[in-house]
Amino acid sequence: MAREFQLYIVPTPIGNLKDITLRAVEVLKSVDIIACEDTRTTQKLLNHYDITTKCCSYHKYNEKERINLFKSYINEGKTIALVSDAGTPLICDPGAVLLEELLKDGVAITALPGACAVTTFVSQVPREGEEFTFIGFIPRTAEGIKKVVTDNMNKHLIFYEAPERILKTLETIKTTRGDIKIALGRELSKLFEEIKIGTISKIQEYFKDEIRGEIVCMLYPSSNINDDELINRIKILKSKGFKAKEISVILSSLFDENKNRVYDLAVKSE
Ligand code: SAM
Repeated sequence: MAREFQLYIVPTPIGNLKDITLRAVEVLKSVDIIACEDTRTTQKLLNHYDITTKCCSYHKYNEKERINLFKSYINEGKTIALVSDAGTPLICDPGAVLLEELLKDGVAITALPGACAVTTFVSQVPREGEEFTFIGFIPRTAEGIKKVVTDNMNKHLIFYEAPERILKTLETIKTTRGDIKIALGRELSKLFEEIKIGTISKIQEYFKDEIRGEIVCMLYPSSNINDDELINRIKILKSKGFKAKEISVILSSLFDENKNRVYDLAVKSE
């Protein structure tokens, strides 16, 4: 017999209604309350699967005030399932505040595996090695974008972005990092889903002036050499009397590397 929990974190489809597990449907049917962001959105899913469990709204604007209500349900012996409008709760969706409070009370919590835009994307985009950095939504300001893409230059950097902002965001990235290779996923698991991989210019050319639908994007690392190797070479050049600025010019042209990255490492390793 399956172990029972008091709070179940339940992923829901990110586009295709069939992308829900048998266990998720079973849990949604068996709990006493489903805490959801938008009751109308979740109701469509519940109707599709003949789930009659009562819904209660739980979103970023009422997160704190709902905590006592959910605690009282749990104290009465009721079970709760937490869902978001689409995908996995707590991945760019509410739930962290509730979880933190319930964990303090020793509530038995479990999360079901399931649909999530970032894992759906990353499992169909080739990468070198296993590592990637997911930052949720990319900052909205040009300054914020520049900082995050510069700080993560030698990583596979994955982010969510709204369709109305993505073209401007890509332009900001291009002016910061150059015409780097990216992967863009659109409308995953839906009718018009597509993955495009290429330089920013190619992607801009493909989409022209408008991109519609839900977007997840990955920037490929710019660096051809990792930090350790670079630091080794910096040390060799330093021992021969070269200054940080000279080293940054030499190594950046040698490895097609960003000059500032080399310079920063050269200064740091002094
Ligand atoms: N909790 C969700 C998850 O597990 O992926 C993410 C919720 S976040 C509020 C919504 C963002 O996720 C969208 O703006 C988009 O960037 C991304 N997203 C959600 N569904 C997607 C899909 N079908 N295709 C591509 N990106 C998607």
